Amino acid sequence: APAGKKNDISREKSAVLYEKAKQFFPGGVNSPVRAFKSVYGTPLFIERGDGCFLWDADGNQFIDFCCSWGPLILGHNHPKIRERVTKTLEKGLSFGAPTALENELAELILKNNKYLEKIRFVSSGTEAVMSAIRLARGYTGRDKIIKFEGCYHGHSDSLLVKAGSGLVTFGETSSAGVPKAFAAETIVLPLDNRDAVESAFSQFSGQIAAIIIEGIPANNGLLIQEPAYVQFLRDITKQHGALLIFDEVITGFRLGFEGAAAHYGIQPDIITYGKIIGGGMPVGAYGASAELMACISPDGAVYQAGTLSGNPVAMAAGIAQLTELKGSGFYKALNAKASEFVEAIRRYIAAKNYKVKLFHVGSIFWFAFTDQEHIRTASAIDHGSMEHYKVFHRELLNRGIYLGPSGYEVGFISAAHSKIELEKAKRAIFESLDELFR
Ligand code: PLP
Repeated sequence: APAGKKNDISREKSAVLYEKAKQFFPGGVNSPVRAFKSVYGTPLFIERGDGCFLWDADGNQFIDFCCSWGPLILGHNHPKIRERVTKTLEKGLSFGAPTALENELAELILKNNKYLEKIRFVSSGTEAVMSAIRLARGYTGRDKIIKFEGCYHGHSDSLLVKAGSGLVTFGETSSAGVPKAFAAETIVLPLDNRDAVESAFSQFSGQIAAIIIEGIPANNGLLIQEPAYVQFLRDITKQHGALLIFDEVITGFRLGFEGAAAHYGIQPDIITYGKIIGGGMPVGAYGASAELMACISPDGAVYQAGTLSGNPVAMAAGIAQLTELKGSGFYKALNAKASEFVEAIRRYIAAKNYKVKLFHVGSIFWFAFTDQEHIRTASAIDHGSMEHYKVFHRELLNRGIYLGPSGYEVGFISAAHSKIELEKAKRAIFESLDELFR
């Protein structure tokens, strides 16, 4: 079925593959949300992608707004990335020794980002954040960190922690297998609440190494924070000798080449990257001032390493992608296209008086089935409304539109989404909303 037309999709081949995958992997997947537990049906097994399109094992074609959860800001199978990767892999896949490609990617980033002086490449966002936390602890000599409810920072022990019962409490583990003693070093606070942060700093005076926040929280809905609140976090950390970490695994190279730091005009102490930085290959990074980065081994006492860190093929993909992004007007064009798309959908929703909001920043969007004007905290999300998302998701798939399989996930628009496809997607979204609210 062509993308954008209503037609119940066949999932026969995907279903067979899923049955087989269940024999091999827990839940049949290698990352939990892929299992489609929060939406109807079973996972689609993807065969290939090109531009803004995906094709699954049954030959269904979709306009993709998941974009591998964010990395593919140029769309699938971009010719420049493919060429650079192909050329690189012909010379060998991994050496475990330095290559010029690492310098090239680092130079591209550091020369075009005034918020960083030095960087270290790792292989995932989780690793980047885990290392940034260790750096913050090593530098300050303090153990506790503050994270916010509704922010996701990967699956390292210190960060798989959820809020306890009081306003300022030690976190409780949010996964089996995380020692209570680790969770006790993580303080989980509500977003958009200055009192909570002030109380934490007075209660744990001299013990807090860092506050970590997503550039714009985008893993549990899109919780757009007020710039003044982020500035408050900058001020209070400075005042107490703690560091401010921006986790820019999603926002880095997404809101602009300099990410959320430039979006707010705020200098964090450490920035973490993932997703876009690797052009679709497994790359993460963390960076900071030269002074802070001097704490990292082999220069300093904070140990961090990786067999495949700075892998040449992954570096090649990152270089090719970031080179395109650095081109003048890239973000202006992408963000304008995204705004136009979002505004048209908002007008439709308003005209029909549907109880749904489309939140948006840059080329990131999130459908929330609510009538609230703003959602800034995890607790403001209506969990019951996720039932609407399930129907919406199914209706969209049947019309050739692929969104992340959970109502808490945001959507991404890439440079490969042309006006024609966005027009088709809009029509499919309108029809799906009509179906949902019928
Ligand atoms: N930090 C943020 C803000 C993320 O969005 C993610 C992944 O979605 C991570 C960290 C973890 O990155 P990875 O999945 O590459 O380990």
